[in-house]
Amino acid sequence: MPASRVQLLPALLINQIAAGEVVDRPASVVKELLENSLDAGARRVEILLEESGLRRIRIRDDGHGIAPDDLALCLARHATSKIRSLEELEQVESFGFRGEALPAIASVARLQLTSRETGTEQAWQISVSGGESGELAPAAHPAGTTVEVRDLFFNTPARRKFLKGERTELFHVQDVVRAAALARFDVEFRFQSAERSVWRLPPALDAQARHQRVAEILGEGFLENSLYVEHEHLGLRLEGWVGLPNFNRANTAAQHFFVNGRPVRDKTVAHAVRQAFSDVLFKGRHPAFVLYLCLDPASVDVNVHPAKQEVRFREARLVHDFLYRTLYQVLGEYRPSATPIPEP
Ligand code: ADP
Ligand code: MG
Repeated sequence: MPASRVQLLPALLINQIAAGEVVDRPASVVKELLENSLDAGARRVEILLEESGLRRIRIRDDGHGIAPDDLALCLARHATSKIRSLEELEQVESFGFRGEALPAIASVARLQLTSRETGTEQAWQISVSGGESGELAPAAHPAGTTVEVRDLFFNTPARRKFLKGERTELFHVQDVVRAAALARFDVEFRFQSAERSVWRLPPALDAQARHQRVAEILGEGFLENSLYVEHEHLGLRLEGWVGLPNFNRANTAAQHFFVNGRPVRDKTVAHAVRQAFSDVLFKGRHPAFVLYLCLDPASVDVNVHPAKQEVRFREARLVHDFLYRTLYQVLGEYRPSATPIPEP
């Protein structure tokens, strides 16, 4: 057989391939849309699901909105308002910066984008279905943005087959909303599924309100069995709740780690935690925690993976030892005897 000729892929297919990286289930759509709302400075975000998002996902925010001229452009690949240069990429503090999520979602679902830019009178709307854009039309909408995503993977049956049942998909969405609600206590979240309220979380601006939010989404049991940590050393700062050894879990689902406000799953972090708990937990058991690490944004690279759950620390060893030592010390009184801190 002669070799096929080389040709450029059609735009829709390019977006669908990209969608394979960032969109694999309702939860990843919710994650991308929530991040956009937070990047837009929203003070309040509403998440609404039908059939756990398999049928419909609607995210509404009161953020800065999108100018009518930009609505169509938002749906084009690599169009972003968040960075303009490599310098800005290196300093990036927003969740998004790739300009991939909306076009990717729009290539595998029916998407409607409605927005009113702050300070303007008129809202505008645009719809896309399987990559085909409709016309820009006037709409009624308060200041802010609503993104509605229907029939995820309606045009990519092979992808649709990988979706699980409603229960499982709802769990995954809950994980995403939980992480956002833990990352941003200052923002109000309302989460509704199948016309029932899952969480109604008012802004949590003081310690008591934050405590309440954590109790609401992680359970009172976690707070009753955890210690509050606050420690700073060499420009690194760790704060949050660490579950006591007796409150251990069979998996790492109850571990919530944030780096400069961004939910992160990281090997360095996981290793440091495991080591700090190694002599107070049985093998195969895992601690629960909600921890916030803050450090100079220039010393952590968030540009690692499109789903952006990983980060790269410039000084991984320093971060590792800081976490290990801090947690080891916190757990001090839960050790059989006052053992001196072993080298990590
Ligand atoms: P990215 O977030 O990487 O920039 P997206 O495809 O997620 O890429 O979004 C493209 C652009 O659309 C964003 O840069 C932003 O300008 C705009 N946008 C998307 N969602 C919102 C929103 N909820 N509020 C305001 N602007 C938004
Ligand atoms: Mg985005």
